[in-house]
This record gives sequence, structure tokens and C-alpha cells, in this order.
Amino acid sequence: MTILGQTAEPHAAVSLETLEPVIADDSAIHTADELAAELLELELGDAAQLPAELTRAVHAQQAAQRLGRRDLYLRASLHRSNVLSREGDTVEAGRIAHGVYAEAAELGDAYLLARSHQSLSVFFYQVGDLANALGHAVQCMTYTNADIPAAIRARHIMALAVMLDETGASEEAARRFDEALTITLALGDGVMTMRVLNNMTYTAYEQGDRQLAETLADRIRETARSHGLPIQATSLDTLARVWMMSGQFAKAENELAPLWDAASAHLFDVGYALVEALVTAAEAQREQGAFDRAQSTLHRAVQLCADRDLPGFRAQTREAQALLYAAAGRYREAFEEHRRFHSDTQALQSAQREARAQTLHAVYEADEARRASEAFREMAYRDALTGLHNRRYVDETLPGLLDGAGPGVLSVALVDLDRFKQVNDTLSHQVGDLVLQQLATILLRHIPAAATAARLGGEEFVILLPGLDAAAGRQASEAIRRAVAEHDWTPITGGLAVTASIGLTTVTGGGTPASTALAAADRSLYAAKRLGRNRVCTDPA
Ligand code: GH3
Ligand code: MG
Ligand code: MG
Repeated sequence: MTILGQTAEPHAAVSLETLEPVIADDSAIHTADELAAELLELELGDAAQLPAELTRAVHAQQAAQRLGRRDLYLRASLHRSNVLSREGDTVEAGRIAHGVYAEAAELGDAYLLARSHQSLSVFFYQVGDLANALGHAVQCMTYTNADIPAAIRARHIMALAVMLDETGASEEAARRFDEALTITLALGDGVMTMRVLNNMTYTAYEQGDRQLAETLADRIRETARSHGLPIQATSLDTLARVWMMSGQFAKAENELAPLWDAASAHLFDVGYALVEALVTAAEAQREQGAFDRAQSTLHRAVQLCADRDLPGFRAQTREAQALLYAAAGRYREAFEEHRRFHSDTQALQSAQREARAQTLHAVYEADEARRASEAFREMAYRDALTGLHNRRYVDETLPGLLDGAGPGVLSVALVDLDRFKQVNDTLSHQVGDLVLQQLATILLRHIPAAATAARLGGEEFVILLPGLDAAAGRQASEAIRRAVAEHDWTPITGGLAVTASIGLTTVTGGGTPASTALAAADRSLYAAKRLGRNRVCTDPA
């Protein structure tokens, strides 16, 4: 499984209000520098040593109050939020994070903004709102300035990568994972390197890229060896999964041997990590035909779910149990267990929906917070450079537009700058960026009211033109082409002209897949380039 900064299966939590007064203000923090150092240390940890971390966070808050440092007080509050989030008190964690965010925005403090976006991202991840989680992860990065410690930057990048991965943007995620890895390697931070590698490996596993998964798995082992570090439960689970990709079930089981070794118990102190690993072990045992071993492993997992109150993982053990019965030819029991798995899962989903609604309601007592978060949800669908919609937005809305085209009509125009490489090469990348931003402004100004402009990536844009037939689409595209060519670019590019080529396709009636429409527009774009650029081409007659 992947590791985020914090992940928690909700369970009864200690309320901070009851804790705060009983913690004496006896910390050894006397100066703002000492306090900042303490906070950085807390921020670099993973808030795992409960409840010691909570005590430290409260001490830091008290010290900040003594020193009259509101900014440091808020940083300490965010750490408290992270600890609470790990403990499963999502509501209180979310409340604190929203509160700190509001103040950070008022103070205009970039570091606090970055940190509160990071906490909010985790909050939304935990309530299952991935779009908002991603929006905040993106925002976190925009405030992660060059002067932020590299170790913190690496954590923010990794969190963004996980969110991108979770929302299906695997290529963007991979690039971010690489970036995080480069930093942790340069820092010689073995623990963090292993966490990044684990996430990369698990992603490769999920994508069925065996070769990459195996290479990365070796790097996890190598990193553990060279740093003299133990491999944590989540990573052992990942390594076992990689063995299973090539059908090496005995090796997978062997990889998880520490599960049965009392001396390794500390590697498995997080309940859900242990259950996850046990379910993997049971699968490896089942695949080897060792049904008795698999059964006893599953019993242990079930017991653990009961002991640690992990209902989400109980359903997972039922699924594994059903498969085990089936493998042993006990089909009637397999069927019964599968039915229980199914109803457990449904009950769980509705409980989660309910909990999510309650959590959001509790956190959003202030309307402000909701408005702010709606704005961030929106950001996940925006391109950071131009402010236009992004590819994700197009991927999610184009199919609906095509279906909704029904008896109606939709035109799709791909806009690609001509010889844009020249702008970058002869002027600079920065000038190139300015050209892209200016182009976005021109597009917004010249597209029809019902149309949407989005940046697909690089210097390629798309305009969705609902209700425009081939003739109207051509007219709109021609107007855009002309607006680009006639714009006075001298302030940005000096003498260098900027033009665009446009490929247009028109779809009538529902049922056309988005990929088909985009491919048709792309063919027309290619024709426009071949015919000399700065022109509009449409579907062949
Ligand atoms: P053509 O007329 O055939 O489209 O030529 P081109 O140079 O535009 O072709 P190509 O698509 O090969 O090059 C696109 C270039 O766009 C490559 C890359 O340097 C540049 N580019 C992509 N994304 C960005 C960006 O975000 N900012 C800047 N400044 N340049 C970018
Ligand atoms: Mg181009
Ligand atoms: Mg291009």
C-alpha cells in the first residue's frame, strides 16, 4: 500500500480540550530559534509517536504564546492537527487546519500556507474527497518556496505525487516521485527515500509494470541495507506483492516472515499495516496450496481487526476468506463469505458517506471555510500557468458533452502554437511562458460565450464549442486564429511573430468516444501544420 504523511482508520480519539490543561508548561524551550528548531523536527517526523507528539505540540504552543509568536503558535497547532488526524480525530484535525489556513492567508505567511494546505489535503483525503485533496496538494506546492528546507519540500512533493496518482494522473505522479526521490537521495535521508521508493514501487505494481516494480523493489532493499534501516510493514507488503507479480509465492511469503517474529513487532505497530500485510501473506500461502497456513493467517487478521477496531479491513479479510474457501473447493462457504463481504462493503460505504457528511458539517460550521474549499476543489481542474481549465477537466467533461450532444452538435478545436520551440530557443523559456499566458487571455476573449478553453499541456490548447456545427465551428476557429496572428506581440517577443494552427472536428449525435473526437481534431491539426501553419483545417469532406 502507499504511505501518505498520515493515514488513519478512525477510532476513539483523545480530545485536545481535555488534554491541554493537564500538560504542564515545563518545556525547555526558551528562545524563538529553539522553538523553530523543535517545530521543524516535529514537522519532519511522521507524527507517529503518540501521545508524546501531542505533548510536544502543546509545549510548542505554550512556548509560542510566551514568546508572543503567533506564526510559531500556528505551526504548532498544525502539528497538533496532524497528530489528531493520525489518531483518527478527523473532525478536530480538520477544524484546526481550516482555522490555521484562514489566519495564514491573512498573515500572508508562505510557509504556514504551504503547511496548512498540506494538512487540508490530508484532511480531504481522509474524508474521501480526492478532488479537494489534490487541489490543496497543488496549492501546497505553490507556497513551497525555494527557502523552505529541502526535507520538507520533498515531503510536500511526495504528498502531491500520491494525490496525483490517486486521481489517475500517473505520469504527472511519476515525475513528482522522481523529483522527491532526487531530493531525499541528495539529503542522504534513508527513511524518506524508502517511503518514496515504496510508493513508486506500489504504483508500478498497481500498473502491472513488473520490470519497473522489481527494479524499485531492489532499490528499497539496497537503501535499507546501506542505511542499516529495517524495512517497515507497508514496504514488506509491497515487496511481497512484487514477488507475486511473477508468481513467486514462496518468496512473497518469506518476505513477510517478520510478521511471525516477535522481535520485529515494532515494524508492525500500525494496525492497518499489519492487517494489510497479513492478507497479502494469506494470499501468498493460498496460491501455494498451503490452505491451513493461509487459514491461520487470516484468523489472525480477523482477530486484529476486532482488537483494533478496523472495520474497513474486516471486509478485506472476508474477500480473502471467500477466495480461500473457493481455492479449497468449499464453494458453498465461499459463496456465503463473499455475500458477507459484499454486504459489509456496502454497509461500510454508507457509514463512510455518513461520517464524511458529518465531518464536513462539523468542520464547515463557518461558511467561509466551505467557500474557500470549493475554490480549491476548482483548482484541481485548473492549469497553474494560464488559469485555464486543464486536461483533467477536459477528460472529465468532454464525454458528458459528447453524450449530451444527443441530437445536437459539438465542435472541438485543437489549437497549437506554430514553431513555439523557436520562441523558447531564441528568447527564453520565461518569454515562452508569457506567450502561453497571453494566448490564454486571447482565447478567453475570443471564444463564444458557451465555449470552454483548456490547456491540454505544453503549447496545445483545446476549445470545446457546444452547439456549433461545422460551419459555425470553422468561423469561431478562424476568428481565434486571426486574433492570435493579429495580436501585437512585440512587447513580449520583440519582432518574433506568434501564430497558431487549429484542427477542428465536428460531432453530431451522441455516442462518439472522447478519444475519437480528439483524434479527429488532431488529424486536422496535423494537416494544418503540413499545409504551412497559421491556418484552420477541418474534417475531410
Ligand atoms: P509546430 O509548429 O510543429 O507545432 O512546432 P513547435 O515548435 O511548436 O513544436 P513542438 O510541439 O515540437 O514544440 C513545442 C515546444 O513547446 C517544446 C517545448 O519546449 C515547449 N513547451 C512546452 N511546454 C512549455 C511550457 O510550459 N512553457 C514554455 N515556455 N515552453 C513549453
Ligand atoms: Mg507547436
Ligand atoms: Mg505541440
